[in-house]
Amino acid sequence: MTYVIALDQGTTSSRALLVDHDSVVRGVAQKPFAQHFPQPGWVEHDPFDILETQIGVLNDLMDREGLGPDDIECIGITNQRETTMLWDRRTGDPVCNAIVWQCRRTADIVEAVCAERGVADYITATTGLVPDAYFSASKVKWILDNVPGAREAAQMGDLLFGTVDTWLIWNLTGGKVHATDYTNASRTMLFDIHKGCWDERLCRMFGIPMHVLPEVRRSSDCYGVTASEAPASHRGLTGRGRDLPRIPQGIRICGVAGDQQAALFGQCCTSAGRAKNTYGTGCFLLMHTGKVAVSSRNNLITTIAASAPGAEGLEYALEGSVFMAGALIQWLRDELGLIESVEESEQMALSVPDSAGVFIVPAFTGLGAPYWDAEARGAIYGLTRGARREHIVRAALESLAFQVNDLIRGMEDDAGCCLELLAVDGGASRNNFLMQFQSDILRTRLQRPVSTETTALGAAYLAGLQTGFWQDMGEICARRSIEREFTPGMDACTRDAAVMKWSRCIERTRSTY
Ligand code: ADP
Repeated sequence: MTYVIALDQGTTSSRALLVDHDSVVRGVAQKPFAQHFPQPGWVEHDPFDILETQIGVLNDLMDREGLGPDDIECIGITNQRETTMLWDRRTGDPVCNAIVWQCRRTADIVEAVCAERGVADYITATTGLVPDAYFSASKVKWILDNVPGAREAAQMGDLLFGTVDTWLIWNLTGGKVHATDYTNASRTMLFDIHKGCWDERLCRMFGIPMHVLPEVRRSSDCYGVTASEAPASHRGLTGRGRDLPRIPQGIRICGVAGDQQAALFGQCCTSAGRAKNTYGTGCFLLMHTGKVAVSSRNNLITTIAASAPGAEGLEYALEGSVFMAGALIQWLRDELGLIESVEESEQMALSVPDSAGVFIVPAFTGLGAPYWDAEARGAIYGLTRGARREHIVRAALESLAFQVNDLIRGMEDDAGCCLELLAVDGGASRNNFLMQFQSDILRTRLQRPVSTETTALGAAYLAGLQTGFWQDMGEICARRSIEREFTPGMDACTRDAAVMKWSRCIERTRSTY
């Protein structure tokens, strides 16, 4: 019996998951690591913490399950996206800590680069992204401009750039392979998503020598084999290096994708009109658009989707996010004290027939896509003397569904196609009231899989499809178990009236109102 291991390198922890041929997750090992906030708005990770915890959980999982390298068919990697590092190609020493996707230190750089006429439009047209410090380009520039000696070393050809996937691949293969996949490359703001190559003009704009960039490969590909010959930094022989755990040798790395694209793949959303939404602290919504890179009129991002081996050309997705999703339910619990646990929100919402006209617009940090208003702030509408906490809790859950509905309508408008099916995952997808209300408002079927480890499954599928562990997507999707399907039940008048009232609340919440 062999297994596929998914390495899931997230923002707060590293995980390793053992996946069997039936897509059942047989074991999980997880280790959190430190977050560094050296200044307000700055977020960093120590690249060796990432490595140490990731190799640590791989070893823990294999030891605990009594497995050797021969029992592992291959490894798939999925990772926090955009987080940026540069390291010395001879020793493996990073030149500084990784700059994490959340870090805002380079907002000025993006503003300065985009001050020149036409640049912002060029970035969007080429990369599919709305220019922002979130993506890797300005982070690389910051390191080259601010770490003493970094620019000279880069120019001499001594430094390598990578997102977290690239850092892991390079280290796991003993410094032999410097590569990334299309999905991660598409988040750097340096990659032409139409031509499928690094863009010279963007590299020039951000002052990045092109020879620091990794080779870009398909998400399902033979990246390399894990090696026991670790870079010098692993033996603590270099300035920043440390004694790292041994790497089990001889396992193939055959799948790589950024976390959201891996989840889309893991949810079997591999054709146009299929979408997945992750209901976590925020929501991450991706809709597959087939071979068409749809440009958005609704402030959504166009990104490369992971595809199965053998697919010709690139495949794309539209991506949008909701800032306040599960976080709003935590706010009801922690700041308002209306519920004792987030789970309780379900029963409380179901204990009343409707929200009694109460609407919450959770614009705590502004309104994201498709509205895009950074100055807007949250509001509760429709309060009457009869409004009770049950109504407020219900309105909070409903606000998640309304926000997701607006994002999806924006995606449909951009793509000119209709949502076929929404696959759901994430903590708040366990809330049955929310899922039913979401299906009602969207007028679409929702599917909640038995295993909500969709990100890890996506990475495992990409790797296992490459080696033949699974024959094709058809085999994987046929075996996938759906825990529950939600179908729309609300009558059209009630639904349309609710959506119209919500839209009015959004209008009133805008900062310009
Ligand atoms: P993340 O990966 O962003 O930390 P998770 O997928 O673990 O998020 O989901 C946690 C979020 O989901 C929390 O914000 C929590 O409030 C919300 N959540 C979890 N369970 C429920 C539930 N039953 N009802 C509503 N919200 C929930």
